[in-house]
Amino acid sequence: MCGIFGIFNIEKAEKYAFFGIYALQHRGQESVGIASSDFEDVKVVRKEGLVLESIKKEELSQISGYCAIAHVRYSTAGDSGGINSQPIIMETPLGKAAVVHNGNLTNYLALREELQAQGIELSYTSDTELFLKLLGRGQFIPEGIEIHPLDREIMPAIFYVISKVKGAYSLLYLFKDRIIALRDPMGFRPLLMGRLKDAILFASESCAFDILQAEIWREIKPGEVLVVDKHGIRSYFPFKSEKKAMCIFELVYFSKPESYIFDNWVYRVRKRMGELLAEEDEIEADLVVPVPDSGLVAAIGYSQKKSIPLELGLIRNHYVGRSFIEPTQELRDIKVLMKLNANRAVLESKRVVVIDDSLVRGTTSKKIVNMLRRAGAKEVHMRIASPPVIGPCYFGIDTPTRDELIANRMSIEDIRRFIGADSLKYLSLEALRATVENPEDFCDACFSNCYPLEVEGSTLRIR
Ligand code: SF4
Repeated sequence: MCGIFGIFNIEKAEKYAFFGIYALQHRGQESVGIASSDFEDVKVVRKEGLVLESIKKEELSQISGYCAIAHVRYSTAGDSGGINSQPIIMETPLGKAAVVHNGNLTNYLALREELQAQGIELSYTSDTELFLKLLGRGQFIPEGIEIHPLDREIMPAIFYVISKVKGAYSLLYLFKDRIIALRDPMGFRPLLMGRLKDAILFASESCAFDILQAEIWREIKPGEVLVVDKHGIRSYFPFKSEKKAMCIFELVYFSKPESYIFDNWVYRVRKRMGELLAEEDEIEADLVVPVPDSGLVAAIGYSQKKSIPLELGLIRNHYVGRSFIEPTQELRDIKVLMKLNANRAVLESKRVVVIDDSLVRGTTSKKIVNMLRRAGAKEVHMRIASPPVIGPCYFGIDTPTRDELIANRMSIEDIRRFIGADSLKYLSLEALRATVENPEDFCDACFSNCYPLEVEGSTLRIR
């Protein structure tokens, strides 16, 4: 997963980009980068680590400009760490350009081989580089598409790139005098446009606009290519968006609850997940306890629906940074204990329903159940506000391999035994789909094993 941000037409754009990308830190903590243009040249700063800790004031002032794009990275394709951090920047036949990408190309290896066969050197091991390497290698004008005179040079080259790549991409190009925003025709990852006085903004989630007191304008639509320059905004739809596949996991877990994405307020959808989980559940209990922070909103919905009080039975430590010390076997619980602590004051002798957003490997849930029991809970009933995760993601979320997904190896009863809970229940797939207005426009492949798109090297069930 990654977060992307862009801003056009404002003095000190790099500073706005810094705060905008900071608001998207939850989407990636491995590296951060900002590229900026003063309408003459495109410059970049890229660092490993968190936004606030890595980029220094002096480094920002060296890239001062009027438009900027930024990125936080959580690797899903390519090596993690510095080498693949973004924005990637290079000279292209269309001038110097930088690019930031959220998503995952499903035909990366084939494209890579194709380019290498033509003698083109690739310097990175991530798919994002291809968006620059393919620029200027061909031109394509889809039938019926009229290109504005200002875009005649650049747009056929961009359409050519889009005609070659497959998979998930919400992406921003920065050229010295313009930003181009792209969203793949299936719309896997979110991308929004906002306004702040005369400036135009782009972001993976609307929470990045809030920090700058900018307003949400609209989403970049699946399949849309949007150009913004000094002359204004121009929008193209070069390829039909026949089947949409917006990632439902963004609503389950990934996006911030206060964000607006995919025409939905995340908070409302997540709360509804909790309400529907409650409707499907017969259990009687004294307390509802959310797993902070991602289980909190669903727990509110569950608690209100069931009229069972919600208490903070698990408290999160907000000062956990990245730990480079791997705990020894004897201290194997320490990683979870660093993040969460059970609150004996509310748990003692209580029948507890604990709500989490998802259950992937099961190891964290096991530790949480154990923690709640040690703090005096009489019964622990684990409830998951999404269905069992049974398939890996090929479209930009870093889920484990199929074998590592516990629901792929064990029955629900076996998982319950493994995590040590008195009972275990998941939200049904039907109920998850009922939380959004047009479920057919969403990808839920990791829950249904029914994929929206073919992936090279895999034999998947395609919906
Ligand atoms: S497979 Fe799951 S995580 Fe990946 S895009 Fe689809 S819903 Fe999202």
